[in-house]
Amino acid sequence: MNNQPRRAIVMGASVAGLWTARILADHFDEVLILERDSLPEGPEPRPGVPQSRQYHIMLLKGLQLMDDLFPGLREELIEAGAIPFDTLNDVAVRSRGNWLPRFPSTQYLLSCSRLLLEAGMRRHLRRCDRVRFVENVNMTGLETDGGAQRITGVHVTHRDGNDRAATFSADLVVDALGRRSPTPEWLTALGYDAPAESSVNSFLGYVTRRYRIPDKFQADWRMLMLLATPPDQPRGGLIFPEENGVWCVMMAGANKDYPPTDDDGFVEFARSLGTEFFRAVQDAEPLAQAYGYRGTESRRRHYEKLTRWPDRYVVIGDAFCGFNPIYGQGMTVAAISAVAMGDAIRRAGGNLDGLAQPLLRQISAITDGAWLLATSADKDWPETVGGAQKEGLADRFGAWYIGQLLDAMSKDPMLRLAFLEVNQLVKPAASLFAPGVMLRVFRQGLAHR
Ligand SMILES: Cc1cc2nc3c(=O)[nH]c(=O)nc-3n(C[C@H](O)[C@H](O)[C@H](O)COP(=O)(O)OP(=O)(O)OC[C@H]3O[C@@H](n4cnc5c(N)ncnc54)[C@H](O)[C@@H]3O)c2cc1C
Repeated sequence: MNNQPRRAIVMGASVAGLWTARILADHFDEVLILERDSLPEGPEPRPGVPQSRQYHIMLLKGLQLMDDLFPGLREELIEAGAIPFDTLNDVAVRSRGNWLPRFPSTQYLLSCSRLLLEAGMRRHLRRCDRVRFVENVNMTGLETDGGAQRITGVHVTHRDGNDRAATFSADLVVDALGRRSPTPEWLTALGYDAPAESSVNSFLGYVTRRYRIPDKFQADWRMLMLLATPPDQPRGGLIFPEENGVWCVMMAGANKDYPPTDDDGFVEFARSLGTEFFRAVQDAEPLAQAYGYRGTESRRRHYEKLTRWPDRYVVIGDAFCGFNPIYGQGMTVAAISAVAMGDAIRRAGGNLDGLAQPLLRQISAITDGAWLLATSADKDWPETVGGAQKEGLADRFGAWYIGQLLDAMSKDPMLRLAFLEVNQLVKPAASLFAPGVMLRVFRQGLAHR
């Protein structure tokens, strides 16, 4: 291991950047997180992460990693009002027209605003001696060695009114700049190829509005989740409590059935989701305007396929792959990828040479499972653009089988649990094809007939 003091740079201080910085702090003397925004102390929105006002949930796998990497954060979030809930017992879920069985489990998630979660991660990192936030800097390009074989730093302009330019050198640079990351342009400027892209767009629109939870509200659920079903039921919605006695009400429409953000349109869309949903929303007091969001396509840049790649440079998070957010995967996949980065550095004994390209392949493999989950159902909307067609026998069987499983879940709690573990990225999708699971699916299918 090289004994020189070493510095890593993480570009972007949103969730992927924060996971990465936390991991790299175990391997570097100094980790700089460079960010264009000024970062608030508390749970406040900022321009660089416009989606942070929308409903966000961290999947079970992400929460497990959070407990490992940010010990004590779960308790702090709960102290600040986050609500632990039993995913299988506390949530009333309507899927494909059926209410799913509810039963007590050990599958606990945490309901809180994305802003609270991100502020908590930032707070933990501010306490870490090796991590330093450099705010109000705009990343403008990459610094390389003479032959542009290796990234040696980054170029920035300070947002101080004069656009003062500066360069930060580093032994490793990580791009966590989100969906609009300029890495493809930076690569081509250095003489590399831009990556191929895959995208699947189901033209999903989001709208989120926060309400005060009515004092006397009564229902047999703590949370309500209505799922859209392709090809002809594009609307879905959910009501989740967050900190401070607030309901986060989110509605989504796929296939260009975008939910409106104006008051009347919002209420009408809520009415179309059924009495249970509408009854809750109509009597609640809105606390803020409704925020809409489009631009939700799953989009993946295939950095792993490039034959030439500058060493010491890694791409992570939404910059690598942005998922259709309805599946709630982005923050968790970023966490799993960051952990893989730490493992790769450890396996290499701290030697960073030649590490970047294999790591990108590993991040791609991590992305595969979530990508499959996020894009398979989306391909069934008539307006969807992109993605390979399900033409092979195996694809067609897989799609048919998952449809059977989703129907069977409403009758069989075991199947619900099996699907949940895959959906929450705790188990691979292949586990749904285990003989025991398939048997239960087919048994339910026969019983139904
Ligand atoms: C509507 C919506 C709902 C979502 N819901 C969920 C959910 O429920 N669960 C989940 O896990 N994920 C969800 N996601 C995805 C989640 O928001 C992202 O995966 C998560 O924010 C991690 O993204 P990131 O850190 O890679 O990039 P981003 O969050 O986009 O952050 C990029 C960062 O880079 C900074 N930056 C960008 N360009 C520059 C520059 N040139 N110089 C300096 N700084 C720069 C930005 O200011 C920002 O801080 C949702 C996304 C959307 C759009």
